[in-house]
Amino acid sequence: MKFDVIIIGAGAAGLFCAAEAGKRGRKVLVLEHNAQVGRKILISGGGRCNFTNREVKAENFIGNNPHFCKSALARYTPPDFVELVKKHRIEFYEKKLGQFFCRESARQIVELLLTECRRAKVEIRTNCSVKAVEKNDLFKVETNQENFTAESLVIATGGLSFPKIGATDFGYRVAKQFGLKIIETRASLVALVSANSAQNFKKLAGVSVDANVSFGKHSFRENILFTHRGLSGPAVLQISNYWRKEKAVSIDLSPTANVAEILGNNRESKQNLDNFLSRILPNRFAEIFTADNLPNKPLNQLSNKDIENIAEKLNDWQVKFSDTEGYDKAEVTLGGVDTNELSSRTMEAKRVKNLYFIGEVVDVTGWLGGYNFQWAWSSGFAAGQAV
Ligand SMILES: Cc1cc2nc3c(=O)[nH]c(=O)nc-3n(C[C@H](O)[C@H](O)[C@H](O)COP(=O)(O)OP(=O)(O)OC[C@H]3O[C@@H](n4cnc5c(N)ncnc54)[C@H](O)[C@@H]3O)c2cc1C
Repeated sequence: MKFDVIIIGAGAAGLFCAAEAGKRGRKVLVLEHNAQVGRKILISGGGRCNFTNREVKAENFIGNNPHFCKSALARYTPPDFVELVKKHRIEFYEKKLGQFFCRESARQIVELLLTECRRAKVEIRTNCSVKAVEKNDLFKVETNQENFTAESLVIATGGLSFPKIGATDFGYRVAKQFGLKIIETRASLVALVSANSAQNFKKLAGVSVDANVSFGKHSFRENILFTHRGLSGPAVLQISNYWRKEKAVSIDLSPTANVAEILGNNRESKQNLDNFLSRILPNRFAEIFTADNLPNKPLNQLSNKDIENIAEKLNDWQVKFSDTEGYDKAEVTLGGVDTNELSSRTMEAKRVKNLYFIGEVVDVTGWLGGYNFQWAWSSGFAAGQAV
């Protein structure tokens, strides 16, 4: 069966690209190996899909070439997607930090994409595993169902995170088959695992603290969440995009208060340190963290050195992590198809005519907060206009 365009992967980028290409009159086929399309969309944003962000800039993305994403993001913007959401009468709200979520369910975003595809006469085949891809004049795609040919082939198979819902390395394998370079991949937007069990994260598991988390020149102010093995929570997931094993992460556990200053101002107090700290930190945290890490004395017995140490531990806690929780728990995959291999306007491989890569398989990774879906829409749009 012959098509103008075959898209492999019926996730966010693939379905969006399919609808755009179909609207231009292209005969489009989408192949998905799962029984259901858009499974990652369904579980995203806690089931409500954080589908974009009010402000999306190149600085919100990580990749070897920080400028690559600019062209696509400028041509299909967050307001464009919000317009589409409104057109489909999906109720949404801005939660925090410009993050837009569906009020009801992420399923509405999958339905939006399917409706757009239906209107654009896109054919979608589920339960369809691709066995091989070849290129002569046309691309030939061999599957467990039939063999298909097309002038253009779009790879939209996403990253490696969440293999239990269908993530594969297929896209990277196709890139390698055609001689394209891959930037090493790594699990990201993911919890970090402590290098030092003595820090006894277990006791604090479940406690959440407002913190400022920094690594190198990158800082995020949001909650951190203690887990049995280390730290999670939005600020830690954000920093995981930048984290490298060699260096400690710096955590300000009291970003609104200079601990040295407030302890200095209360030197007459007979209150124990843990009680005093529960004014600025959650009770359970103040109690356990003080018992394990700080001298738990009445404030009037603290020496200057004690105050210096306590302030350092709380305003600049240095934590070494040994690993991440891995692809099973990660929201995204860093790295991917090298953007030097692709046109930033169309997502076409510079060295392989009519072969396109879009979405998470490309070495463009967004922050937590709707940025990764915006990249899926924008890169899908760019290719959808070109195929
Ligand atoms: C738990 C979780 C929550 C998230 N929440 C958000 C959020 O709220 N906001 C946000 O912006 N981002 C979120 N993300 C990230 C976001 O889901 C992804 O970045 C986005 O889905 C990437 O789109 P994509 O189309 O490139 O890949 P995907 O959506 O992963 O789609 C790839 C598709 O290709 C299919 N596929 C893979 N291999 C093959 C193969 N060999 N043959 C055929 N089909 C194949 C897959 O089954 C899948 O359907 C979340 C991720 C996770 C894991």
